[in-house]
Amino acid sequence: MTIFDWCRHCGNHGPMTEEHLPPRVAGNRSPITVYNEQDGALTVLRSFEAGHTIPSLCRADNNKASHRGLPEAYALWRDDTIGHLREAAAAFHHSSGQPHNDLFFIAAREGGAFTLPMEHGTKLGSEHITNLNPGKIVRQVLGMMLAVQDTRYLLDTQPQLAAAYHSDEPTSIEPFALHLALAGSGLCYFRNGVLSVSVSLTGQGASSTEFWAVSFPPFLIFLTSGPKAPIEATRIDRWLGYPVSRAFSKRDRKMRYPIADPRELLVAKLYQDQQRLEEMGG
Ligand SMILES: [Zn+2]
Repeated sequence: MTIFDWCRHCGNHGPMTEEHLPPRVAGNRSPITVYNEQDGALTVLRSFEAGHTIPSLCRADNNKASHRGLPEAYALWRDDTIGHLREAAAAFHHSSGQPHNDLFFIAAREGGAFTLPMEHGTKLGSEHITNLNPGKIVRQVLGMMLAVQDTRYLLDTQPQLAAAYHSDEPTSIEPFALHLALAGSGLCYFRNGVLSVSVSLTGQGASSTEFWAVSFPPFLIFLTSGPKAPIEATRIDRWLGYPVSRAFSKRDRKMRYPIADPRELLVAKLYQDQQRLEEMGG
């Protein structure tokens, strides 16, 4: 059955193709069941035979992402991150005696997020990874965020977002920011309901920051409407400053990703100490 809708990447109306989200090359190939939780009761929303998909893109845009190598770059980065997470979990288990997965449920001693230092370009299994590409990775992440939108709000009122996604040259999505944390969460995305949420992301009282969130393990991804939220350390939208042809520079190979506690409201732990936020942003 062909679904007619509007393409989340170009806005044109027409027949939609099933977009694999996250990409098939990033492990999204197996049978998967998506549940809906309401008032504590779980109901099956939809089952997929070969990976989770949504009918959100026209054929041209669905094919374009693959031709640009965006899913592959994302998958390589995800594999690298998971490798680092496994190492950190093993070290955590060794030193604490707690189960490996408890890594996702702890806070650092000072109460902030527990962070995972990553040195890209090190070994992944027996393979030496040197070609992690921030320009491609961030565009894939942005493309996934746009692909799950229910309304045309971002596409129509914030044209710099889709433009940045489609561009191969250095660009930016200001005043928007794209943030990423690590979480032991499953596959989920918040639809338009998030638009109406108003939270303080800086710990300084009421804020009208809008945000959109999507979680494809092990990543928790946020798009926020202002550059100050949530914190500097989680920002990856600056990677849009790289053309898609450029791999990580040596300096950018050392990164620290906050690990979110999924039991908290979003990543509340990341925002509780302004001083720490500034320190991490330095
Ligand atoms: Zn399209």
